Amino acid sequence: MSEKYGNLIPTGRLLDGKPRTILFDATKCIGCRQCVHACKDWHDHPRTSVYEFSSSNWIQMDPPVLEGLSPLWARNSCMHCEYPMCAAVCPVEAITKYDEGPVVIDPVKCIGCEYCVYACPWGVISKDEVTQKASKCTMCAPRVSEEKSPFCVVACPVGALDFGLEEDMTAKAHARASEVGGETYGENEAGGTQVVMVLKEGKAAYGLKFILPTKYPAHKIPLGLMLKDLFTPRCGIPGKLRALYLAVVHPKRLLYRYWPRRA
Ligand code: SF4
Ligand code: SF4
Ligand code: SF4
Repeated sequence: MSEKYGNLIPTGRLLDGKPRTILFDATKCIGCRQCVHACKDWHDHPRTSVYEFSSSNWIQMDPPVLEGLSPLWARNSCMHCEYPMCAAVCPVEAITKYDEGPVVIDPVKCIGCEYCVYACPWGVISKDEVTQKASKCTMCAPRVSEEKSPFCVVACPVGALDFGLEEDMTAKAHARASEVGGETYGENEAGGTQVVMVLKEGKAAYGLKFILPTKYPAHKIPLGLMLKDLFTPRCGIPGKLRALYLAVVHPKRLLYRYWPRRA
């Protein structure tokens, strides 16, 4: 793992080092949002809106048109990218990619700079208004480390969600896609992700984003925000010192932050 990424992003291991994948079969989903509520339950999140992303709502189950008018449902949440741009731009190395798949934000290290919020191609990271920390799905990393499935997967009443070794889930997704005459989504986007979807129709019909197969896709962090961080005490002095230290010891990471490029 560390050979694959060098010092570009922090990496870690939870269990046996074998990558896992969440499989979402949109052809089976009935839009009940049990997965969304289960996520809130497992993480002790308050019962806030299930419609918008927030620090207490990490999954959006969205119909592409007005609810009740479409049989199609899309799952929007962290895709647990193989090459997570959120982690590549974080100035304090608060985001770790684990061998088993999860991409996890450490709220203790996070300084709330919002770079990851702008860098994520799927726009799934929120900033908590109270703690000022970035927040998103963790793939239930503590459960994965105990060889358990993410809680959303356990909660789905119709088997639209599955979890297992990457090769098994990918094979299952392909078999199902050819059975229904559909396609898969997530294997190639942004260089590959650890969420694979089976779609009956094209991704546009589900309102899913078109993302190029580029590793570490170009980010949209406003230049003004980065300049502000260079010249003002925004995000605190300890955070600035940590960012400065990491910029010196891991200078290659600056390439991704200041010069968005394609690998
Ligand atoms: S989907 Fe966004 S938040 Fe999730 S790993 Fe990829 S870049 Fe990071
Ligand atoms: S808000 Fe900034 S410090 Fe926090 S995880 Fe995102 S990029 Fe890192
Ligand atoms: S619990 Fe299953 S069927 Fe219900 S919205 Fe989630 S994925 Fe779809």
